[in-house]
Amino acid sequence: MDVRLRAEGVTMRRVLILGGGYAGLAAARKLARGAPPDVSVALVDRGRENVFTPVLPDVISGRIRPRHMVEPLEPFCRRLDVEFIHGAVRRIHPAEGRVETDAGDFSADYLLICLGCENNYHGNSQAREHAIGLKSRAEGAAMRQGVTDLVRGGRRPRPHVVVVGGGYTGFEVAGHVALLLHRLTGLPYARLPEVCRVLVVEQADEVLRNCSPAVRHWAVRLLERFGVEVRTGVSAAEIGPGQVRLTDGTRLGRTLAAWTAGVTPGPAVAALDTPKVAGGRLAVDEFLRLPEAPAAFAAGDAAGPRVPGTEEPLRLNVPFSLAGGRHAARNVLRSMAGRPLEPFRPFDPGYIVPLAPGQGAGVVLGVEMVGRLPSLLHYLMCVARTWSWSNRLGMSRDLMFKGGRL
Ligand SMILES: Cc1cc2nc3c(=O)[nH]c(=O)nc-3n(C[C@H](O)[C@H](O)[C@H](O)COP(=O)(O)OP(=O)(O)OC[C@H]3O[C@@H](n4cnc5c(N)ncnc54)[C@H](O)[C@@H]3O)c2cc1C
Repeated sequence: MDVRLRAEGVTMRRVLILGGGYAGLAAARKLARGAPPDVSVALVDRGRENVFTPVLPDVISGRIRPRHMVEPLEPFCRRLDVEFIHGAVRRIHPAEGRVETDAGDFSADYLLICLGCENNYHGNSQAREHAIGLKSRAEGAAMRQGVTDLVRGGRRPRPHVVVVGGGYTGFEVAGHVALLLHRLTGLPYARLPEVCRVLVVEQADEVLRNCSPAVRHWAVRLLERFGVEVRTGVSAAEIGPGQVRLTDGTRLGRTLAAWTAGVTPGPAVAALDTPKVAGGRLAVDEFLRLPEAPAAFAAGDAAGPRVPGTEEPLRLNVPFSLAGGRHAARNVLRSMAGRPLEPFRPFDPGYIVPLAPGQGAGVVLGVEMVGRLPSLLHYLMCVARTWSWSNRLGMSRDLMFKGGRL
């Protein structure tokens, strides 16, 4: 299906955005505000809503209600006069500006690839089938329900929650599982292991590898205060329905497994015959274009622009995704106008990672911080970056009245 539009003899130039995450929606906004009248913009996504992933772990504990962390894509696009196409992208042909989706094939003058990343199961089919990842609203709700069912099923034999992957997300998930257990049972955190054992298992020798040793030490003690065990050098050898065998031979029955062992671009991006950087992300030039496809741009987690002056790709996060989406859209507009493109040089003030309810860590403007302040900054940024005022208000109310911390 060629959806290039014609109006009164004028061929409309068409921009197709693949993915309605942070990068995709930021690009859509930028194009809607800056595109000349002969440009039509469409956005394709396999889902119908944008999920505000930084607060997804809060859905497990009930700290934030799911409806306050999603933005329906169709009305969002309608307000911007952007066409929304509901369909999964199967194959991308960047040099031809053509995309195959399960809603039909589409062609465009410019492509913006903003398909993000998916749970990385590292080829482990058992994990894919029996463990719960954390990328969608449904997965957040499934974790919450799974923990609730374990508690309602009684204390004997003792149930377990095993979180596979000792990175930021794994820590946060375990912390919110503990808060949910605390709320369901009324027990203090120190006594939670009596009703359910929560473990974070990390196959490497260190958890939180990007943090300093002092922050790692602090974060492990923090989770222990939430009643969570953190084990390194151990992973899940087998994951079955309701059971896990660890690589040290321990067999755990009545177990809910959460999978937080990283993310990777999905099959449509992985199948692209174009250079990739670490983690399978798309190599892009300094203008965010794919090599050898000057009308195809990529931004957000799916792309791996280099940190200027290094070989390292930028970190996966919301601020760089928003900035990348906006920048790619700006360069599309410049290219249409025959103007020189601008290099992508995002400002990097540092990072903040929430590690448990009400607690976080980070480095802001070179200053390392742990405790409540980074957590507060994280939620302030979440509220500010949410797409609508109703979600901003809803999220703020939830945080004020449904809080919960050590
Ligand atoms: C649990 C969790 C917590 C996080 N916490 C933080 C945090 O605290 N701070 C922070 O800065 N970052 C955080 N991140 C990272 C942040 O969410 C990502 O960096 C950001 O979402 C990337 O934006 P994106 O637009 O590239 O991709 P996404 O937001 O993942 O959006 C990609 C879009 O593409 C769509 N899509 C994917 N494949 C297809 C396909 N084949 N066909 C059609 N549509 C498709 C998806 O439905 C989705 O809408 C967290 C991530 C997770 C999972």
